[in-house]
Amino acid sequence: MKREDRKARISQVGEAMASLFSCPAPSLGIDIDGCVDEAPIFFKLLTSHWPGKVFVVSYRSDREKAVADLARYDIRYDELILVDSFDAKAKVIVEEGILVFFDDQPEMLKNVPSMRNVMLVRNEGNFDFEDKKWMFSNETGKLL
Ligand SMILES: [Mg+2]
Repeated sequence: MKREDRKARISQVGEAMASLFSCPAPSLGIDIDGCVDEAPIFFKLLTSHWPGKVFVVSYRSDREKAVADLARYDIRYDELILVDSFDAKAKVIVEEGILVFFDDQPEMLKNVPSMRNVMLVRNEGNFDFEDKKWMFSNETGKLL
């Protein structure tokens, strides 16, 4: 093999190796109530360093208050989407191509397809800190 051919081959291998580590930045989705307000430092750091788009998907109707709350918690986001039903969050997650979604209510998450990552944030609404047990309904949980 000629020296120029070897150099070209090495360059091709290098480019192929580099492409293994460069994937499109995935989109992140977060809830506000019971999530951002439950762990504000975590979500500030997560959203400020997330390489892809950040969607805030909230079961709220007051957009101005949502914008103000996100500013107060210093949350970086690209889009704020307000929904008016439990199932609407799962639809938004699929339609917007959100890979990872944080929420505190299993009701919001049960219809999210298995190919999406779901992170359940613990708070007093879904966890009994005195009994140290998760709380769920027959609609969202199954006792093993
Ligand atoms: Mg919530």
